[in-house]
Amino acid sequence: TADSKTSLRIAIQKSGRLTDKTIELLKGIGLRFDDYKRNLMVKCRNFDVELLLIRDDDIPEYVQDGVCDLGFVGANVRAETGADVRVLRGLDYGVCRLSLAARKDGAIQTLEDFEGKTIATSYPNLTQQFLDKHNIGANLVTISGAVEIAPRLEVADAICDLVSTGNTLKANGLQELEVILESETQLIQTNKELSPGKKKLIEKFLIRMDSHQQAER
Ligand code: ATP
Ligand code: ZN
Repeated sequence: TADSKTSLRIAIQKSGRLTDKTIELLKGIGLRFDDYKRNLMVKCRNFDVELLLIRDDDIPEYVQDGVCDLGFVGANVRAETGADVRVLRGLDYGVCRLSLAARKDGAIQTLEDFEGKTIATSYPNLTQQFLDKHNIGANLVTISGAVEIAPRLEVADAICDLVSTGNTLKANGLQELEVILESETQLIQTNKELSPGKKKLIEKFLIRMDSHQQAER
């Protein structure tokens, strides 16, 4: 039947903070695949699943468009892209927060102090939404990496960036002032209509995942 050929396509981060934990989770629920580091696409040997290994930034859109049925991605990236996807599960890794931060002894000490200032970030949408909600007018400078050095380079007065331990901020003489978003890795599903075969596969996948997560606790 056509369904026996149906395979679930799952997007995961190719190489980064989420990769090992996601692979570990997939292996933990019994999926077997080899050579995932070398290929963009990897077929699972014992389950109708194939992995698409891509940059995390591309995952929400691939899932939105139905190129992939499922994806593992940070809530931060999903929210920033505003992709139309369904969040199936929140997971306990990739935990971090998106926060506003400024120089430790600088002019910005409270939220109001951000008025009229320049903020460097890789999350312009989430940052702008937060500023709008609090009626603060600031200028955003979008940069894709090493945001924490922007104040020292005088590219910006402040930053809005991901924080986990806070050590990177500290090392750059910055202090965290406002948390904009608490984030974790999420399993997302496309909102595109799926075949009955794929729906069944997703159900099976979720049952395995949930019992695995329970066993971990
Ligand atoms: P890619 O090459 O896939 O675009 P990247 O450099 O954008 O990778 P990583 O640094 O690997 O992304 O981070 C991936 C995700 O890990 C983040 O989007 C976030 O959800 C999570 N994360 C957890 N803690 C942190 C942290 N301290 N700094 C950055 N990301 C973190
Ligand atoms: Zn990225």
